[in-house]
Amino acid sequence: MIPLSSAKRIIIKLGTGILRTDEGLINDLCIEHLCKEIHQLKQKGIEVILVSSGAIGLGMSRLKINKRPTELKQLQACAAIGQSQLINLWQKKLDAYEITVGQILLTREDLDSSKRYTAVTNTIQQILESGAIPIVNENDTVSAEEIKFGDNDTLSAFVAKATESDLLLILSNIPGLMDTKNQNTIIHQVETINKDIESLATDTQKETSVGGMISKLSAAKIATEACCGVFIGSGNDTELFPKILKGESVGTYFKPACKRL
Ligand code: GLU
Repeated sequence: MIPLSSAKRIIIKLGTGILRTDEGLINDLCIEHLCKEIHQLKQKGIEVILVSSGAIGLGMSRLKINKRPTELKQLQACAAIGQSQLINLWQKKLDAYEITVGQILLTREDLDSSKRYTAVTNTIQQILESGAIPIVNENDTVSAEEIKFGDNDTLSAFVAKATESDLLLILSNIPGLMDTKNQNTIIHQVETINKDIESLATDTQKETSVGGMISKLSAAKIATEACCGVFIGSGNDTELFPKILKGESVGTYFKPACKRL
């Protein structure tokens, strides 16, 4: 059973692939549906932090670029252009529920330095206390290779750890961890992320996505070791949250490796 209703604080990580269609259009229906779910979770008293990808993808759309650039400065320009589109999009859609958003852009250095770490966690805490929701993304414009998280799966796991969240939901086009050695069935529950589990992961081939299951599993390892449960499932399933709340078998749930004191 995925402990969604008992969670006090959750992170929802959304991949570019569910915010933007393959043709480069904004996936309005999916975003509007997620906003409704976020509102309902907040109504239940659950604090929600979003980690939203999509800056590079929306920047590519705005600049009419179909192929993901390979040069860092081109990616950074797309991210700079797309990030403002992204945060405006979230605010516009969440206005329907009178939910305010606060933008947090992070680099790895921000969580490595204790002063900045404290500033980040205090700001997130304050945004939550004000009833708004923090929307986190990597600060791609200033992230050089050596200070990059590189993918938002990893970023979301570090945010889950820093904010002592109870549950991290990684939502993308991937419906869960597939048992590639056993007729491609979804593994619904993972007790421990061991070598056997890691051997099931593959990378992504999509233009705007990074990481695939490899980065999702490594994120799950970081978060579960920080006592946070992790769920990997399809962000396109409009019944996902009701199914989780009803205890139906959906996606993959990774149990936390410890209990927070
Ligand atoms: N920070 C990147 C963006 O907003 C996303 C990286 C990822 O999808 O993992 O486009």
